[in-house]
Amino acid sequence: MANIIRSRIMIIEDDPGICTFLNATLHTEGYVTIIVSSGQNALELISSHCPDCILLDLGLPDMDGNAIIESVRAWTSTPIIVISARSMETDKARALDLGADDYITKPFGTIELLARIRTALRHTQTTAENGEIALLGEYHVGEMTIDYRKHRVYIAGEDVRLTPNEFRIVALLGKHAGRVMTYRTILRQLWGPSASADNKILRVHMASIRRKIEPNPNEPRYIFTEVGVGYRMAEEV
Ligand code: CA
Repeated sequence: MANIIRSRIMIIEDDPGICTFLNATLHTEGYVTIIVSSGQNALELISSHCPDCILLDLGLPDMDGNAIIESVRAWTSTPIIVISARSMETDKARALDLGADDYITKPFGTIELLARIRTALRHTQTTAENGEIALLGEYHVGEMTIDYRKHRVYIAGEDVRLTPNEFRIVALLGKHAGRVMTYRTILRQLWGPSASADNKILRVHMASIRRKIEPNPNEPRYIFTEVGVGYRMAEEV
């Protein structure tokens, strides 16, 4: 077993049914759980228990989950995965922009949930920078290789000839593979804090990137669209 120290997951959720489901699922996978049903308790217990990952329901009885994200992010980078019944894209984007690492919309499946948790934990363990990139200067998924030293992207060994801006977008998503990056985050990281909030430029770049890297641009294999929120690079599971 690779994980001798069991990761501790805090579940902040006021719905007893979902709590029971999450608790049972996480225990089966060998995680230790800490369950909290109100925002106030959550804030106290996060500082005393220092969980490895936080699953956060946005609709809590005493507090908006977004306020918890803001408060936690003021002092720790513990990964936060938002679990929300809100399917509004603006809510998801807001939570991510406040510092949540990922989100999952109710109802969700066990496999999806566990994959998101593994991704979140892996990113903490490699200090937010993808370990493979730090080691090799490359990121691999499927037949794609991003070469960070040469600033090139290859599909099955063939240089796909991205423009400099296209490369920057792919490179950024690769560094955060498995995690959703909001349009705002991408624009700001690539073009600075004063970047236009217009997502249109990203969509234009992405259409061109997909024509170059995806076998079928309508069914992306490498870069997924999170509708109304942003993009997510695939990672090997
Ligand atoms: Ca709730």
